[in-house]
Amino acid sequence: KFITFEGIDGAGKSTHLQFVAGLLGQRGIPVVVTREPGGTPLGEALREMVLHQPMHLETEALLMFAARREHLAQVIEPALARGDWVISDRFTDASFAYQGGGRRLSREKLEILERWVHPHRQPDLTLLFDVPLEVARARLDATRELDKFEQEKADFFAATRAEYLRRAEEFKARFRIIDSTRPIPDIHKELENIIAGL
Ligand code: C5P
Repeated sequence: KFITFEGIDGAGKSTHLQFVAGLLGQRGIPVVVTREPGGTPLGEALREMVLHQPMHLETEALLMFAARREHLAQVIEPALARGDWVISDRFTDASFAYQGGGRRLSREKLEILERWVHPHRQPDLTLLFDVPLEVARARLDATRELDKFEQEKADFFAATRAEYLRRAEEFKARFRIIDSTRPIPDIHKELENIIAGL
């Protein structure tokens, strides 16, 4: 099975990813834990560039998908072929949410890249960790007034979150929305039930 973790920054996905990996480990399921952007040496190098160098929006999207192509070839497909489970911290839904929703790259262009890079592969399960913007912000950074730049970022994250939620509706069969405002033990209980169901 291929499980992806998604959500805006501050939604708590990385914390819960370790918990789910542990659950699978307890059941004796071989699991590969990986992340995007990244997941391979080339992918990690591209991650550094994409996250720290200013670049055209389409260059950013192309590099994300280039890293993803390598990630699929080197890590994801071989693991699934062996019968391992793969848990990835972000996958293509993040490109639609961040480059598409947040940065306004057209959905059509992203769909072309998706069809090119993985025409026959989708996650079996996508866990979308969802929190209102203010909660995500408070978790990232407490108690300051937002300045103008941070306000722009708030708009950016609002659009990113909205696109995640739109996709969860469009691809209901594989998405589960996790209300990440709840206490961690409640979320763990829900994750246990979801994994048991798989
Ligand atoms: O998930 P993680 O926090 O490691 O992601 C690092 C950053 O990469 C995030 O803050 C997000 O803004 C950015 N990102 C992005 N586009 C993607 C995936 C991640 O801008 N497709």
